[in-house]
Amino acid sequence: MVDRIILESPRTIATLGSHSALQILKGAKDEGFETLLICEEKRLGLYKRFKFIDEILTIKQHNQAFEKKSLQHLHDAKSVIIPHGTMVAYFTYSEIDKISIPIFGNRKILQWESDRNLKQKLMNASQLITPKSIQSKDEIRNLCIVKLHGAAGGRGYFLAWNKESFEENAQALVNQGRITGEEDLFIQEYIVGVPTYLQFFYSPISNQVEFLGADIRYESNIDSLGRIPARQQLSVNLEPSYNVIGNIPLVLRESLLEEVYKMGERFVKASEGLVPPGIPGPFCLEGVYDREGIFTTFEFSARIVAGTNLYINGSPYSDLLFEKPMSMGRRIAHEIKIASEKGLLDRIFT
Ligand code: ATP
Repeated sequence: MVDRIILESPRTIATLGSHSALQILKGAKDEGFETLLICEEKRLGLYKRFKFIDEILTIKQHNQAFEKKSLQHLHDAKSVIIPHGTMVAYFTYSEIDKISIPIFGNRKILQWESDRNLKQKLMNASQLITPKSIQSKDEIRNLCIVKLHGAAGGRGYFLAWNKESFEENAQALVNQGRITGEEDLFIQEYIVGVPTYLQFFYSPISNQVEFLGADIRYESNIDSLGRIPARQQLSVNLEPSYNVIGNIPLVLRESLLEEVYKMGERFVKASEGLVPPGIPGPFCLEGVYDREGIFTTFEFSARIVAGTNLYINGSPYSDLLFEKPMSMGRRIAHEIKIASEKGLLDRIFT
């Protein structure tokens, strides 16, 4: 166990240069913090354009972000680190656990986000409806989505509707060296409907769950297949892929909101029980609304998601809750400010 630095009043908000860094640091600046970006050399050109970034700590590659020299720098600046998707993709849970600088949120829950079994356990405990798991290729009867463990951005996912279509695609992944065998794959019922990402923030200071926005991901090439007429689709060998290119805003039917809040609240409660202290800060429930308007959750993210980048100037939902434009990045900084003023930082940092 590494000795963690305890901050009484953080001065700087720091994050890794990628994913939602612009939103996080803009929000931090708007709330009166100094901002620090840990940035790969090759990305400096982009990030140097923005005046709200006070300081840039240059590294060669993301995986050097928390070496001794950076940690000292972060410490001297009285920093708190905001984790995001790139941080989770580049660092294992045990590496994140060893970082001595305070991290916003519950770092333990990041492990639950990256482990399929733990993830399922938390979704079950939250009483969320989840897609059925199919135990074997012999049990495939309807349309299924076949997933690779830890495949960022759905790379390599494929659709199967019977044993043969499963075997054909699995063999192709083996041939490409993506998997060693069929046992590396995970088969799940495919839910037909509108894939939706629900963005929440939980404040342990006010003890409230806030629903701050929703989005749809626009993915290549799955979202462009509909532009190709059926005859051409059938005659060309096209395989769907799920590489996220961007996000599209979504406003939900107002009648869906009550259940959205209930799902968020159940998730917060279950996290507190299974992974204390729970989930202070942002999280996202990721799923599909079917034709009855029922939400089936296939994933969650236990930190800020990139879909919140849409609402840098606030969202239709944050506008109902706050007097000022409140992005998720700014909401994080706001929580740090309030917790710091009230001497309650231990509720939001680990
Ligand atoms: P990331 O790490 O970026 O969140 P991922 O690898 O976890 O990505 P997902 O976002 O979970 O991948 O899924 C990729 C795509 O597959 C998305 O378009 C999602 O809507 C779709 N998808 C995942 N599970 C299901 C399901 N059970 N039914 C229908 N679509 C699904």
